[in-house]
Amino acid sequence: MFDYLIVGAGFAGSVLAERLANGSGKRVLVCDKRPHIGGNAFDHYDDHGILVHKYGPHIFHTSSDIVFDYLTRFTAWRPYEHRVLASVDGQKVPVPINLDTVNRLYGLSLTSFELEAFFAKVAEHVEQVKTSEDVVVSKVGRELYEKFFRGYTRKQWGLDPSELDASVTARVPTRTNRDDRYFTDTHQAMPLHGYTRMFERMLAHPNIKVVTNTDYRELADLVPWREMIYTGPVDAYFDHVYGKLPYRSLEFRHETLNTARVQAVGTVNYPNDQAYTRITEFKHLTGQEHAKTSVVYEYPRAEGDPYYPVPRPENAALYEKYRELTKTQERVHFVGRLATYRYYNMDQVVAQALKLYAELAARDDSDHEGAPNGRSIEHAVSRHVGRDRVHGQPSR
Ligand code: FAD
Ligand code: UDP
Repeated sequence: MFDYLIVGAGFAGSVLAERLANGSGKRVLVCDKRPHIGGNAFDHYDDHGILVHKYGPHIFHTSSDIVFDYLTRFTAWRPYEHRVLASVDGQKVPVPINLDTVNRLYGLSLTSFELEAFFAKVAEHVEQVKTSEDVVVSKVGRELYEKFFRGYTRKQWGLDPSELDASVTARVPTRTNRDDRYFTDTHQAMPLHGYTRMFERMLAHPNIKVVTNTDYRELADLVPWREMIYTGPVDAYFDHVYGKLPYRSLEFRHETLNTARVQAVGTVNYPNDQAYTRITEFKHLTGQEHAKTSVVYEYPRAEGDPYYPVPRPENAALYEKYRELTKTQERVHFVGRLATYRYYNMDQVVAQALKLYAELAARDDSDHEGAPNGRSIEHAVSRHVGRDRVHGQPSR
C-alpha cells in the first residue's frame, strides 16, 4: 500500500515526494506520463553533448531563502544572472526597458532623472490598471508599448494585451537605471549539473518509487494508495466537465550550430517580426564550454502540451468552478502550475509544494498529538521543512 500516489514528477510532485518520504517516512509512488522526471524543467545532453532544456529555457531565481536552502540540499549551483535583448527597429536593445534601451533606440543620452521625466511625459493616464496593456502604457506610453509588448504578447498568447490580466506583462518591470538583468531576486543561479540531476537526487529515496511513461489513470485502480497528489491540468482530472480550461502551448525548435557562440546574451526576444517569440542559447545559462552551440526557438501554439495558464477574468471564473470541484475530492490534493491554474515560476511551485507538505505533516502531527493549537502555517513550514536540514543553517 502506498501512502501517496503522486501524479507528475515536476517540481510540485518531486518536492512533495521527497518531503513525504524523507520528512514523514511515507511510502510514495510517483508517476508521470512523460518518459522522464523533472516536468517542464527537464534538461538533457543533446546529440552533440550540449546540455539543453527540452521544454524551453528555465532560469532559476528566487527571493525565498527557504526555497533556495531547500533545493540546495539536492544541487550545487552556478551563479547566473539572465540578460535579454529585444530585436526592435533593427537594433538589439535591453529588456526590461531601461536607460540604455531608450537612449539607444532614440539616439539620446538621457540621464536616469531625465528618463523619469520622459516616461512621465509619454505615459498614458489609466484610471484603474486592469489589463496587460494598462500596465505598460501607464508606465512607458504607447510607442514603447507597441515596439516591445503588443506584438510579442499577441504572438505569445494569441490575445491582445488588453484581453489579459495586468499580472502578465507586469512580470517585466521598467527601469530608469542601467540594470540590464532580467530578474532582481536575491538568489539567481542554475543547478550546477542541471535540473534533471537535481530531481534524481530528490527522488533517490528507498520509500519513493518512480514510474514514467505512465498515465495515472492506468495505475490508480491497480495500485492501492491512500491519498493522491495531483499536479496535472485540473480540467483534465475532471474530464473537462465544464469545458476546456485554456492553457497556452509552445512548439520548441532545437538547433545546434557549428560555432561556439551565436548571440550576445542568453535570450533574444523578437516582439515584432518572426513567428517565434524568442531564441535562447543554452551555453549562456549553463556555462558549458563546447565548440558548438545549441539554441531553442519558441513558437506559440493554441494546441499541444499545456504550458501556460492564460490569466484573464473568464478563465479565472472557469477555474473557480473546477476549484470548487476539487473540494469534493477528499483524498486528492491539487498542487502546481497546471493543477492550480497559476502562472507560477519554479520557485513559487516549490514554495506551494512545501506549504502543502507542511499542512499534511501538521495534520499528521495533530492526528497523533492532538490539535496544533492555532499554530500558523509559516510556523509549520519552517518546522517541517527545516527539521532535517543538512547545512545546519536556520531556515528563515
Ligand atoms: P510540470 O512541470 O508541468 O509537471 C507536471 C507533470 O505532470 C508533467 O511532467 C506531466 O507530464 C505530468 N502529468 C500531467 N498529467 C498527467 C497524467 N494524467 N498522468 C501522469 N502524469 C501527468 N519558471 C522559472 O522559474 N524560470 C523560468 O525561466 C521558467 N521558464 C519557463 C519557460 C517555459 C517555456 C515554460 C513552459 C515554463 C517556464 N517556467 C519557468 C515555469 C516552470 O516550468 C514551472 O513553474 C514548473 O516547471 C511547474 O512545475 P509543476 O510541477 O507544477 O508542473
Ligand atoms: N513580454 C513582452 N515583450 C517582451 C517580454 C515579455 O510583451 O519582450 C510580455 C509577454 O506577454 C510575456 C509576458 O510579458 O508573455 C511575460 O514575460 P516573461 O518573460 O516573464 O515570460 P515567460 O518567460 O514566462 O514566457
